[in-house]
Amino acid sequence: MTDRSPDDPTRRAFLAAGATLLASSAVNADDPPLAPPDKQPPDLKLPDPPPKKLGWAVVGLGKLALEEVMPAFAACRQSRPTALVSGHPDKAKRVAAAYGVDPKKIYDYGNYDRIADDPAIDIVYIILPNSMHAEYTVRGLRAGKHVLCEKPMAVTAAECEQMIAAGKDAKRKLMVAYRLRYEPFNQAAIELCRKERAVGAIRTIAASNCQDVTAPNIRLSKALGGGPVEDIGIYCLNAARYLTGEEPAEVTAVAHRPKDDPRFREVPESVAFTLRFPSGVIANCDCSFAAAESRRYRVHGADGFVDMDPAFSYRGLRLSVLKGDRKSELKLTEVNHFAAEMDHFSECVAADRPPRTPGEEGLADVRVIEATAEAARTGRAVAVKR
Ligand code: NAD
Repeated sequence: MTDRSPDDPTRRAFLAAGATLLASSAVNADDPPLAPPDKQPPDLKLPDPPPKKLGWAVVGLGKLALEEVMPAFAACRQSRPTALVSGHPDKAKRVAAAYGVDPKKIYDYGNYDRIADDPAIDIVYIILPNSMHAEYTVRGLRAGKHVLCEKPMAVTAAECEQMIAAGKDAKRKLMVAYRLRYEPFNQAAIELCRKERAVGAIRTIAASNCQDVTAPNIRLSKALGGGPVEDIGIYCLNAARYLTGEEPAEVTAVAHRPKDDPRFREVPESVAFTLRFPSGVIANCDCSFAAAESRRYRVHGADGFVDMDPAFSYRGLRLSVLKGDRKSELKLTEVNHFAAEMDHFSECVAADRPPRTPGEEGLADVRVIEATAEAARTGRAVAVKR
């Protein structure tokens, strides 16, 4: 280190620069203060707070609940898990710990009705085998809770009617979990087909939903309400209804149950069914529990086609319009289907609005499923009850 003499030119320049800096930072009496005052303005404006999250009880902790629904809460704005209902306390405790649910809010199928006394639960989500949907929905509604029920709404139309009546009696809302009605690709297909009439008048629809199901599985058990139409064919018929905006008048159906495959002792392996709509639209639907995965539809219009492939999957849907030799794919931002449907229901409950897919929507599908079973059994065209 070297000491500089007072005459050192570098030292003189340094001192001169410091003096200039001090002179420029001198405060005048008129200058505004730089630090904000501690006193707050009387008209302080706050941004809108996020909406209050409603509390959800998830009933049944099987594959769908664990792999899709519980993780989807992270993407919800207005819904959070506050209770679990399960027949397996150890599993429920692990799930509660993973998702921040109070372990005191774990119920089982025996004490389920006690949710009536739990103010942390606004809505219950029934994710049980189809044969249990009606009982647990009705008990949830009678406990004073709003209910989101998985598809198919129930096994029979009579059960669906009881569920709707229970909602009316309890003055609580009932929604059926048709997640595709809450995501942008199927919404866009509805707009294209019904509002924009992008391919002209609809003539026919071809819809397939196939997968390979291994035993054991609730889908293969008659007693649990399984069957390919009930589980996956329902997507085809629901799409035919939402793409046309019509109710089918009549159904014909063919079912195949192979004698040499023990998986199909109780339910058919494959079913093809045709819906005839009042306008003349014909929807050809097929579903199989023993085929490679394929979930798609094509709407054949007078002037072109609307194609969705895959159409019914949780992710990666693709929608395009074909006219002549021109094909245009719609680029939309996908959302988490389960988060979107849960938040829709929370919003409806909070604002006292009817949900887009109420119990009546589930009943309409179950009526078609019943007609399809009768048509396959009798080999005749069966009118869909209204
Ligand atoms: P799963 O077999 O994996 O789960 C069923 C749950 O019910 C399990 O936790 C099981 O322990 C419980 N349960 C209670 N009593 C039972 C009994 N007597 N027998 C068998 N299980 C019993 O089935 P999953 O695939 O999660 O399907 C559940 C529901 O969700 C079904 O209604 C199905 O149609 C529906 N689902 C909907 C979608 C969708 O995309 N919306 C996807 C898959 C499943």
